[in-house]
Formats: sequence, C-alpha cells, structure tokens
Amino acid sequence: MNINGKTAVYGIIGKPIEHTMSPAIHNHLSQALGIDSVYVPFRTDGNLEDTVRGLYSLGVQGINVTVPYKTEIIKELGGVDTLAGAVGAVNTLKYTENGFYGYNTDVMGLERELDSEGISLQGRHVVILGAGGAARAAAFMCILKSPATLTIVNRTKAKAEEIRTSLLAYAKENNIGAGEKDIRTMEPSDINSLPESGYIAFQCTNVGLYPDVDSCIINNDSFFEKTETGIDLIYKPETTLFMKKVANAGGKAYNGLKMLVYQAVCAYEIWNGISVPRNVAEDVQRLLAGKQ
Ligand code: NAP
Repeated sequence: MNINGKTAVYGIIGKPIEHTMSPAIHNHLSQALGIDSVYVPFRTDGNLEDTVRGLYSLGVQGINVTVPYKTEIIKELGGVDTLAGAVGAVNTLKYTENGFYGYNTDVMGLERELDSEGISLQGRHVVILGAGGAARAAAFMCILKSPATLTIVNRTKAKAEEIRTSLLAYAKENNIGAGEKDIRTMEPSDINSLPESGYIAFQCTNVGLYPDVDSCIINNDSFFEKTETGIDLIYKPETTLFMKKVANAGGKAYNGLKMLVYQAVCAYEIWNGISVPRNVAEDVQRLLAGKQ
C-alpha cells in the first residue's frame, strides 16, 4: 500500500470497533483493483454530531457505520436512500456536496448472498428469527422478493410487531403485494404453531454468537424438520448450532460471511462507482474464511 497526498480515506465508526473485519475487506479490494484508497477503523464514543462533522470536514469519502449508531446517525446526514429510510438504519455513508448520504448495504449484501447461492424467496414461506437491526434489514429484503408468507419471531413480540407495521406501510406505499395476513409475528415458544413446511429461515439474533456457541434461539426439532434452508447472519463461529440443526434435519445451511463480504462490496461499489468482479469478491471471502 502506497499512501500519498491523493489517497482517498474511508473508514468505519462504531463501539466497539476492535473486532471489525471491514478494514481487511476494503483494503484488499483497493489493492486487488488498483484503487488509491485506504480504510481505517475509528472508535467512536464521543458526540455523534461532532464525529460526523469532523469526518466530513476532513474530506473522508465514505464511512461504514456499525453498532450502536446505525439508526442514530440518520439525523446527521444530508440525505438517505428511500429503502434505508424505510428500514430506519444506515450502514454506509457517501461524501456528497450536501453532506454525507446514507445507504443500507446490509439489505443489499444479504440479497447478493441469496443470489450467489441461487436461493429464491418468491412464493416461499419465510421465517425471520429476531427483531433487531439485522432482522429489520432481512425483513425488508425479503418483502421485496414476494414471499408467500413472512413470519417474524422474537422474544420481545412488540418489536416484531413494529417491523410488521413498517413492512405493511412500505408495501402499501410501494405497491408491493404483501397484505395483513401474509406478515405474521410470534414468540419463539410458539414456533410449533407454524402451519407450513419448506421454510426459508433467517437467524438474525445474537444467540449462538461466539463465545455463546452452544446456544440456539429455537430448540424445537419439529421446526428444523420443516426448514428447508437456514441462513444464520452470524459468521463467528463459522458453523453455528442453528446451522448444525438445519443440516442435521436435512436442510441446507449458510452463515453470514457472504452477507458481510457483499455488504462491503456494495459499499465499495457505491463509493467508487464501479462493479466489483465476482472473482475478486470471492477472493475476499476466501481470505476471511477461517479467520472469524
Ligand atoms: P440487535 O439489534 O441487538 O438485535 C438482537 C436480536 O437478538 C433481538 O431480536 C433480540 O431479542 C435477540 N436476542 C438477543 N439475545 C437473546 C436471547 N438470549 N434470547 C432471545 N433473543 C435474543 O442486534 P443486530 O444488530 O440485529 O445483530 C444480530 C446478529 O446479526 C448479530 O449476531 C450480528 O453479528 C449479526 N449481523 C450480521 C451481519 C452480517 O453482515 N453477516 C450484519 C449485521 C448483523 P429482543 O428484541 O427480545 O431483545
């Protein structure tokens, strides 16, 4: 890496930030594509308004935003992409003349993970486990793909209800064919009452995340027997207990590493106005595999 006076600076803000894999991904992309830019972590625990103003005045060209700032950051921006606004969370900022503009590439990254695995949600029964920020992103990605049903399962049912309300409003505003009966909510203890089979399930809770590797949000075997495909957004450990349960019941299981790589690739594309070749994205994935 040859940093000089013209090198464009990018970075990530969050708290904690020490564990982030984003600098490895972005700096690899710049090296592989011969783009003169550098990406650094910024631990952020001061005033968010001052942080954004400082980054902008220093001409930082793009910023990723991670926990806990993805929602709070929106009020500091010059504008927000429509889908990110509906999700209510932003993870990518691009420098513009009118301030930073916000996007949600978690939604785009998960969509690309599905595309690359050949998974279609159209007409399928989809289950979202969790109702935090990642679950919201997953739910919006899903509703755009015309599933037959979408069920949001969360310990705090009110948070699942909030997502349902936002999805219904977004579907109505954008003429997406999702009605009251198509979007359901429930608590994990009621999972037995799911009536269909062949589910595509997205595991979007923290349960099973390293070091809590022996935990799974659902401990009901009959749910796994009805699950054809399970996508765990967690990527550390590489194989979660949720993924093992899906696979043991005969389903196909995926972790969240591709989503992580593709959300970064999508941000990189937005910042640089390019399309990252698939083989370069796959190289990044190989670089990270096993390093989680
Ligand atoms: P979050 O906003 O804090 O949401 C956490 C979710 O997990 C909530 O639904 C919460 O339920 C549930 N939960 C936590 N502990 C629980 C427990 N003991 N029992 C039952 N439910 C529990 O977190 P997030 O940002 O959505 O992230 C969730 C996961 O997604 C993390 O593991 C993160 O690593 C992963 N993620 C991956 C990517 C990727 O690129 N692959 C991107 C973003 C996030 P309550 O609402 O009831 O509290």
